[in-house]
Amino acid sequence: MKLILLGAPGVGKGTQADILTRELHIPAISTGNMLRAAMKDHTPLGEKVREYMDTGKLVSDEIVIELLSNRIQDPDCANGFILDGVPRTIGQAEALEQAGISFDAAVVLENSDDVIIERIGGRRVCEVCGASYHLKHSPAKVDGVCDKCGGKLVQRKDDAPETVKNRLEVYHSTTEPLKGFYETRGILKTVYDQPTIAETTRELMAVLGEIR
Ligand code: AMP
Repeated sequence: MKLILLGAPGVGKGTQADILTRELHIPAISTGNMLRAAMKDHTPLGEKVREYMDTGKLVSDEIVIELLSNRIQDPDCANGFILDGVPRTIGQAEALEQAGISFDAAVVLENSDDVIIERIGGRRVCEVCGASYHLKHSPAKVDGVCDKCGGKLVQRKDDAPETVKNRLEVYHSTTEPLKGFYETRGILKTVYDQPTIAETTRELMAVLGEIR
């Protein structure tokens, strides 16, 4: 199965993508995580995108498509994959189509900007493995310490309130039109974010059950 998870930053795409990976046995691919790893390792790519990432701007379609095209050739993608945070522009969606990559579904996770702003404010990520937590909704067992690897939990630089505002604006102006793009391809599905992670997963699985 090849899936796209669409939705505003902080709506919970990464959390659901990790769960779907375990349920469906296909990898989740987050270009945001790949770019953050490049920044952490100070690779030439990481240095090139740092300014964009830190200020909540999108990096270029060329960079993202090259990164993604290479990743989906890895053997673990042979049976499918879940895209989290990509495509993010019509240009990226068209590039994927031109490369002959078709999807079974593009699922958009919906919630209001107000809820998203509250969520992002409480998000903490592991600076070692990238695992994501929320101070209130999914706290680590020991405050400030990653359950998975013991790494330190920090706030992402682009989760600072002024940057979040930028990222939401970019989402509404540039990424949200992808809903129409995938609707005309007949593969758009909508899932309304639920009060708990488990309930949202249940809704997602129900929607995916319809297409399997
Ligand atoms: P994310 O982790 O998905 O919220 O992405 C964090 C940041 O990485 C974004 O604000 C962009 O700067 C960059 N980024 C990640 N994925 C993409 C993409 N598909 N297109 C452009 N920029 C991206």
